[in-house]
Amino acid sequence: MSEHIPFGYKCLNCGKLHYPKHGRCLQCKHREFEKVPVSSEGTLITFTQLKAPPSGIESRSLFLGVIDLGDVRYTGQIEVESIDSLHIGMKLVATWKQVRTIDNRSIYGFVWGPP
Ligand SMILES: [Zn+2]
Repeated sequence: MSEHIPFGYKCLNCGKLHYPKHGRCLQCKHREFEKVPVSSEGTLITFTQLKAPPSGIESRSLFLGVIDLGDVRYTGQIEVESIDSLHIGMKLVATWKQVRTIDNRSIYGFVWGPP
């Protein structure tokens, strides 16, 4: 199994998958989770443009979306040319790449984009 596949947090009580991690399960309020691999392909449910990205992100703006992976709704960064390239229901795939720089260190993560 490649280490560069997206993962979610599965509730140890009811099995609900989350990403990002929450302090308590959204379904049963349990507090313990295990990391499990999730699909690297999904469908865009909703998205937003962040006009003031956190420090270390060089682009002027970035897109965040909620991606339906089948068993989890995954909140992630999306990379497209412009917001006009995004539409609800489009297919997205995850790519492992550099997402930001902090103190000259490259930070890697998943970025979602059209296949
Ligand atoms: Zn639960």
